[in-house]
Amino acid sequence: MQLYFDIFLIILFFISRDILYPYYKNLQRKKQIIKNFKPEWRNFLQEKVLFYNRLPAEEKRLFETKISGFLLDYEIKGVETDINDFDKVLVAASAIIPVFRFSNWYYRDLKTIYLFPDAFTINHPMLPQGTLLNGLVGYGGMIDKMYLSKKALYKSFEKDFDGKHTGIHEFLHLIDMEDGEADGVPDILIPKVYIKPWKELIQKEIERICNDDSILSDYACENAAEFFAESGVSFFENPDELRQNHPELYRVLELIFMTKTK
Ligand SMILES: [Zn+2]
Repeated sequence: MQLYFDIFLIILFFISRDILYPYYKNLQRKKQIIKNFKPEWRNFLQEKVLFYNRLPAEEKRLFETKISGFLLDYEIKGVETDINDFDKVLVAASAIIPVFRFSNWYYRDLKTIYLFPDAFTINHPMLPQGTLLNGLVGYGGMIDKMYLSKKALYKSFEKDFDGKHTGIHEFLHLIDMEDGEADGVPDILIPKVYIKPWKELIQKEIERICNDDSILSDYACENAAEFFAESGVSFFENPDELRQNHPELYRVLELIFMTKTK
């Protein structure tokens, strides 16, 4: 009899640990996410974030959930500037747009986003003294951190379709760096067999930029990592223009960001 009771207790332990507890945690998280989202953010998103504005109603709710979850998971701090919820929502929108179609995405190498009032400088051996930056992620001292200019962040969401978006650009670097290398090849998002053709396409497209035969910004010419960030920005900012001028690149980015519809 004692043996049956012990077996019963062991089964109960596993059910609690592997089923009930994760279910409870999941439920708590969902409740937190709903509570964390403030209704006034909805109008702000509608007005400022074109990507959200264009989503059908049910996907708007999903976007809101992801924004709210992002704001629970990461810290956003102002540096020599006060920041409010709307500033934070724009940071979160920059993070969510590129990964919106992924069912589960967590920026593993990120804890805190620091918002500077405007362009900022840093001391770095690779950068000439006084170089003004609008955004930065990296290794070493920058691990777990992102620096962003608040002014550039707001400019990113203006509907000028200038193909520039500091917020999305920096988050695309983080996506690229998830596999440990900032090389323009997000290994976790590209099936192995497509990596070589993707690298060849990067080279071909970089040559086009250097020869002034591209809609992508000259900055994408710097290296493969900047190319990935800038072509991704163009994909989300000016998709029609990118599709018309760089159809092959557009198709691959569609697959990478899983936005392809049948
Ligand atoms: Zn960059």
